[in-house]
Amino acid sequence: MTQIFDPTAVQWLVFVCGCCLGSFFNVVIYRLPNAQSIVIPASHCPACQVPIAFYDNIPLLSYVLLRGRCRHCRVRISLRYPLVEALTGVLLLMLLRRYGWGPAFLIYSVFACLLLVISFIDWDTFLIPDVLSLPGILIGFTTALFNPRLSWLESLVGIVLGGGVFYLVAWGYQRLRRQEGLGGGDIKLLAMIGAFCGWPGVVFTILLGSLVGTVVGIAVMWKTHQGLTARIPFGPFLALGAVGYIFWGEAFFNWYLGRMGL
Ligand SMILES: [Zn+2]
Repeated sequence: MTQIFDPTAVQWLVFVCGCCLGSFFNVVIYRLPNAQSIVIPASHCPACQVPIAFYDNIPLLSYVLLRGRCRHCRVRISLRYPLVEALTGVLLLMLLRRYGWGPAFLIYSVFACLLLVISFIDWDTFLIPDVLSLPGILIGFTTALFNPRLSWLESLVGIVLGGGVFYLVAWGYQRLRRQEGLGGGDIKLLAMIGAFCGWPGVVFTILLGSLVGTVVGIAVMWKTHQGLTARIPFGPFLALGAVGYIFWGEAFFNWYLGRMGL
């Protein structure tokens, strides 16, 4: 079959679209927790309030050209803006390379974008907005009908397991430590991960997320000298685990079952 589009050009297009989406996500991450409108007003400098012209709002490029400073007041622009843009672009590009153009790429792109926005909001505010996770559960479940890698039943089992197991862990932790360790937001996030990835995804996400979360948690305790009272949000680590599953979950389970001689 002849190629209609040059594959390299398609990859560039997906990367650039990803960066533009990332630019929009920066606005969502900043405004959603403050209950501000995502569309109005137009982007402005947080320091001098001067609206940002379209030519100063080009993802990645503008940051480099302005050398990371506002054109008007010269205040430093947070490195986080180009980081979120690049991260979104790279994620979508990697998904395209992993799954090729088709339903799986589109579905996991939506999933990855939701995880990215949720992670940064949770990192900033220790809250995971229901307005993202609850529709996410519904999107994961309905798109399972078109997902060649997941049946609707697997998705449903994933939702129940993700929500249920985490509810039990949260309940046990609260009984044991008499304080809230895992928020309700984490429970809904794991149900969303189950909706997109099925139960193996939930298991993989909890394993990888807890592992990375524990390592980072210990590093934070050591650095801040706060001991067990140090608080870090768990959402970003669950998101990391879920992204790990989209890329390497299948290889991991094949390797594991192979070792078990199955
Ligand atoms: Zn400014």
